[in-house]
Amino acid sequence: MNEINNSTSKPQNLIGNSWVPAQSGRVLPVVSPIDGATFAEIPDSDAADVDLAIAAAREAFETGPWSKLTAVERGRLMLKLSLRILEEKEALAQIETKDNGKPIKQSRTDMIMAARYFEFYGSAADKLHGEVIPFMNNYDVAMYREPHGVVAVILPWNYPAQQVGRSIAPALAMGNTVVLKPSEDACLSALRIAELAVEVGFPAGVFNVVTGRGETAGKALTEHRGVDFISFTGSPEVGTLIQIAAAKNYVGCTLELGGKSPQIVFEDADLDAAIPVLVNALIQNAGQTCSAGSRVLIHRPIFDQVVAELKLRFEAIEVGPSGEDDVMGPLISAKQKQRVERYIAESDQPIIAKGRIGSNTPSDGFYVAPVLFGPCNPNSRIAQEEVFGPVLCVIPFKDEAEAIAIANGTDYGLVASVWTRDGARQKRVAKALLCGQVFVNNYGAAGGVELPFGGVRKSGHGREKGVIALHEFSRIKTVVNYFG
Ligand code: NAD
Repeated sequence: MNEINNSTSKPQNLIGNSWVPAQSGRVLPVVSPIDGATFAEIPDSDAADVDLAIAAAREAFETGPWSKLTAVERGRLMLKLSLRILEEKEALAQIETKDNGKPIKQSRTDMIMAARYFEFYGSAADKLHGEVIPFMNNYDVAMYREPHGVVAVILPWNYPAQQVGRSIAPALAMGNTVVLKPSEDACLSALRIAELAVEVGFPAGVFNVVTGRGETAGKALTEHRGVDFISFTGSPEVGTLIQIAAAKNYVGCTLELGGKSPQIVFEDADLDAAIPVLVNALIQNAGQTCSAGSRVLIHRPIFDQVVAELKLRFEAIEVGPSGEDDVMGPLISAKQKQRVERYIAESDQPIIAKGRIGSNTPSDGFYVAPVLFGPCNPNSRIAQEEVFGPVLCVIPFKDEAEAIAIANGTDYGLVASVWTRDGARQKRVAKALLCGQVFVNNYGAAGGVELPFGGVRKSGHGREKGVIALHEFSRIKTVVNYFG
């Protein structure tokens, strides 16, 4: 094994526990959203690099030491990694903030979450059992749960470290090996976590990372015949391509895609509790969260009151570089900034309020002031499409039936919240909503590693988080034993 590089000062691909440049020698610049400056380079990998990574992952899965470890031993390694992430929390958070632009407070939380995923799934590695199925006399039927084999994990840039934990920890817990293609826009924390995995003793080929662009490295990975399962988090457009690639190779996939998640506020809601959450559910991570609560549906009798409160809060939001304060940070890239600004400029819906960009903000950073739109036509473009930026739409509704119709009236279905003190209404509305998670009188619940997460329709399919993710990252074999 090569001596391990410092993964963040001279990033390379991690293949079979060795750091290697792209076979082509090509690199991509790493740009900080805080000031738009290039501060590192990553391999611009392609099919040749993916071939190497898959070969390493295949060998580790079939013949390497990983294949001989018990579930308890796998779990112990994962717990060690969890502790190392916590030890390195501050350094990792600094990397994340420079690479992704998110406020340092958020990055610290993300590292705790990344560690928590390895803790949760490391502890679960030996606890998902098979079953014995009653069948005919003189038969013994056992249902085993087995790993898929080599799992391709493709991730976006918005919660880079957390998403490593969310997708890779359950895959490893079930005994798979992994080839990760993190986002070309933010991948340094993923490389560093992989480096820590090597440090705590993960055998060669178990956790491989290939950096690069989606249309080259990502495409080569998803279309590779050596991949047994794909875990994809990203946009619906790319999710469709992933699903086609998976279908051609007859492998399964989970798709964690976008959202246009509604927060529904009824007239009997506890507004003191709701208002700060309504705002934070959107502006956290500058609106770049798949489960961002980007539509607030408000019961007509309290519409003006809630809007007045939201207006005050939006006008008080200051956007700036990612210090300790509760500032909202920049967007990930110049491209994303232009995309969000275009949505704002092209919308024909009224603007209620805007935040402001702080005076000390670097002019070449990718900052966008948050915008509160409303009252919005629920069918308008800004209220239908995922902006993935700090844009919140408020929409009035007259009764429960209309609230549900508006909430379910986009192509997406990821998360929703319901704010009401009426217990029967809480249950009725939660049941009627088309999505994967409903929060009643709260939102997001601090990440919730334990809580199964995923979407319906354009938000994707399959579930990550929770024990259920272990089902996704494994498959069932039934053994029918006749002993008569
Ligand atoms: P994206 O789809 O552009 O990219 C995601 C990943 O896919 C990146 O690593 C990219 O390089 C790769 N990729 C791009 N083209 C590819 C191709 N042809 N083949 C294989 N891989 C390819 O998404 P993004 O801009 O990085 O992230 C934003 C999107 O992700 C939003 O829609 C957001 O809602 C979604 N997202 C969803 C979740 C969730 O859990 N549901 C979480 C975070 C982000």
